[in-house]
Amino acid sequence: MCGIVGAIGATECIPFLLQGLRTLEYRGYDSAGLAVLNNGLQRARAKGRVAELEARVAEQQLSGQVGIAHTRWATHGVPAEHNAHPHISTGLAVVHNGIIENYEALRSTLQTLGYEFTSDTDTETIAHLIRACLKGELDGTEPAGDLFSAVQSAVARLQGAFALAVISEDETDTLIVARQGSPLMLGVADDGHYAASDASALLSVTRRMMYLENGDVAKLTRDSIFLIDASGQQVEREVITSSLSANAVELGEFNHYMQKEIFEQPQALGNTLEMISGAGKLEPGIFGAEAAEVFQQVDSVLIIACGTSSYAGMTAKYWIEQVAGLPCNVEIASEYRYRVSVANPRQLVVVISQSGETADTFAALEHAKAQGHTHTLAICNVPESAIVRETALRFITRAGPEIGVASTKHSPLN
Ligand code: GLU
Repeated sequence: MCGIVGAIGATECIPFLLQGLRTLEYRGYDSAGLAVLNNGLQRARAKGRVAELEARVAEQQLSGQVGIAHTRWATHGVPAEHNAHPHISTGLAVVHNGIIENYEALRSTLQTLGYEFTSDTDTETIAHLIRACLKGELDGTEPAGDLFSAVQSAVARLQGAFALAVISEDETDTLIVARQGSPLMLGVADDGHYAASDASALLSVTRRMMYLENGDVAKLTRDSIFLIDASGQQVEREVITSSLSANAVELGEFNHYMQKEIFEQPQALGNTLEMISGAGKLEPGIFGAEAAEVFQQVDSVLIIACGTSSYAGMTAKYWIEQVAGLPCNVEIASEYRYRVSVANPRQLVVVISQSGETADTFAALEHAKAQGHTHTLAICNVPESAIVRETALRFITRAGPEIGVASTKHSPLN
């Protein structure tokens, strides 16, 4: 999963889209692409670096005020220009982060309807599915009245994780976005509206941001945001002012982010422990107002995490059993989420994720709750993240933005 950005504004959007992609470059990717509306839909794609896409954009003389862009980390189909996003279905373009688990069934339905596929991706299915919803070609459906309704009907048919941005030459004043399981946030600026999979990609235009919830579909115009939640209700989401500083993502004297973040470890740990040392001892309140009451009821701990976070969890297990005297288990989120296990309502479920957006950990948290767990605690570095919003208790590490993808200053448990 890599990055997406989108813009609908009163000014040229290409510089923002390219800058956004460059900001997301640290995640690693295999190809990049963008599409803009300007007398029709125009697209540029390139395998390799954003610099290569930039050269294509210049060569093709692309410009526009409404656009979407993508850096791809291939999950379906090899890294190649024909698999790079955006994917198009006659005049509408889609960028997507994530994986569509039921894409094969959807693809064969769409092929039966006459849609031709030019890539091997799961994403192209979404583009044609939206087009089929617009035309009312799927069983028992009427043509959707507009792009927003078509995206709503299409996402209702998708299984898996996605953050999407969609534009169409039939509605040149609209940018549609949707999220389920993959991160996506909106930027609110004086000259228009923006979307990105990571807050850092919005900082060049605004600090005012709105985090989307799972199941949200939003219609952005230059001066409005219309949002529908998972239950189909119109909702408003709070606009927050991001505390991310543009400098925090700058390299400074270091050669690369991995090095920078390794050298920041003492500072990150110090910042995180400040809350504890201030109180003189570990007060339950640092985990949230209800923590003291919850901890009274807890008889064991279940830590759920992926990768380095799960190794941190294994260390925590030793401490929790030795110091707190509570039985503790550690589960890998990507296994736990797919299996039936025996829930203990007196167990504290602890999820660990640096970003708070790790798809398997988020799904495992939902799964734990669905199985009957009631006490949940997140250890996370991003206070606005999906995982933090879904747990009753939380401990926020204060490590600053983590750019080096390999775990560097992940959590104080490391
Ligand atoms: N599954 C999509 C693909 O393979 C998107 C991958 C991504 O998130 O970059 O094209």
